[in-house]
Amino acid sequence: MEVTIVGAGLVGCLLACFLARRGHHVTLYERRPDPRERGPHGGRSINLAISERGIDALRRLGLDTKVLRAALPMPGRMMHAPDGTLTFQPYSADRRHAINSIGRAELNKELLDAATALPGVRVRFGHRLTALDERTGRLEFAGGRVHDAQVVIGADGAYSAVRARLQQLPGVSFSQDYLDYGYKELSIPPRDGRFAMDPAALHIWPRGRSMMIALPNADRSFTCTLFWPHESLAALDSPQRIRTYFAEHYPDALGLMPDLVTDYLDNPVGHLVTMRCSPWHVTTGAATVGLVGDAAHAIVPFYGQGANCGFEDCVELDRCLNEAKDDFTKALELFERRKADTDVIARLALDNFVEMRDKVGSRMFLAGKRVEHA
Ligand code: FAD
Repeated sequence: MEVTIVGAGLVGCLLACFLARRGHHVTLYERRPDPRERGPHGGRSINLAISERGIDALRRLGLDTKVLRAALPMPGRMMHAPDGTLTFQPYSADRRHAINSIGRAELNKELLDAATALPGVRVRFGHRLTALDERTGRLEFAGGRVHDAQVVIGADGAYSAVRARLQQLPGVSFSQDYLDYGYKELSIPPRDGRFAMDPAALHIWPRGRSMMIALPNADRSFTCTLFWPHESLAALDSPQRIRTYFAEHYPDALGLMPDLVTDYLDNPVGHLVTMRCSPWHVTTGAATVGLVGDAAHAIVPFYGQGANCGFEDCVELDRCLNEAKDDFTKALELFERRKADTDVIARLALDNFVEMRDKVGSRMFLAGKRVEHA
């Protein structure tokens, strides 16, 4: 079967691997140029925590070892109190049970390599989907190029163009809920060639209504992310205000961030949104169109499960294809059963924001092990 996937992000690439393994021919259409030929976009060098849910999907394709080679295990979280006290809270009694920090750009490159190494997979970069006719399966791309498909799977992320078309159809429900919070990335570079903090932890500065987190990178830097109310992010509008605020609320981090002011002023503010859509697929006449990953169920990042869930989507769709004997219309119908699970993780992710920014801090001295130095 010829399958067209829109979006060669994390989930699109992994799904292409699953489908190629089943003998399908897959064409991925991606709006960006090939990321393997250039670096990540400035200020968006998100790193992700990949956990067992995602690793299981990688393992099924024999990709886990290679992908995790670049990852740093984080067996617990390190809480940073306002006075600089550090407390380590393990995620499990067994330190082998860790979540793994990996750069989203690196992970995407690995998955692109894996997909394009398979016979039957090709990627068309620089193709931004602008229109889809679900009755005929005709896809239109910026610049006027067209492609006719029988099976179209939208893996084009939270602001999916495929989903945008489905939303216009009668019977398709959709909601998007924005938090009053945004996020901004900062950086802690290596110090004397070493990690400036313990790399075997996800670092959290819980501050009640807001927080900062930091995940280690393979180059011995940390990517920090502020999750603050929009008005707080906007209020720090001068170098002086930025430094004063960090000196008061994140004193131990301030000394580790030589580029704080430029990072803060230059890096964009990201939005935090939960998207829900139902159903995820439509079959009309000649074509079947479905959604996976963030295109189907974008969630806020506080459980570190968006990509992990998208990877699990691929496992579940593969299972549905088994049950439907590779009839995509039937398989996408069966795949709707997954919505109950993704609705639950969307709610848990919202709840975990309160846990991370507030509750972990108040339990700081009860549940964790105090660390004398970083
Ligand atoms: P995307 O990664 O968004 O990929 C979509 C692809 O489609 C992109 O390549 C895009 O260029 C392409 N595309 C978009 N529109 C078009 C179009 N019109 N035509 C053609 N191509 C198009 N998840 C975790 O599991 N763990 C974490 O720790 C974690 N932390 C996060 C932290 C932050 C700050 C954020 C914002 C997210 C985090 N996530 C995390 C979520 C994770 O990044 C997403 O769930 C994941 O990237 C979704 O993968 P996807 O392939 O569905 O979508």
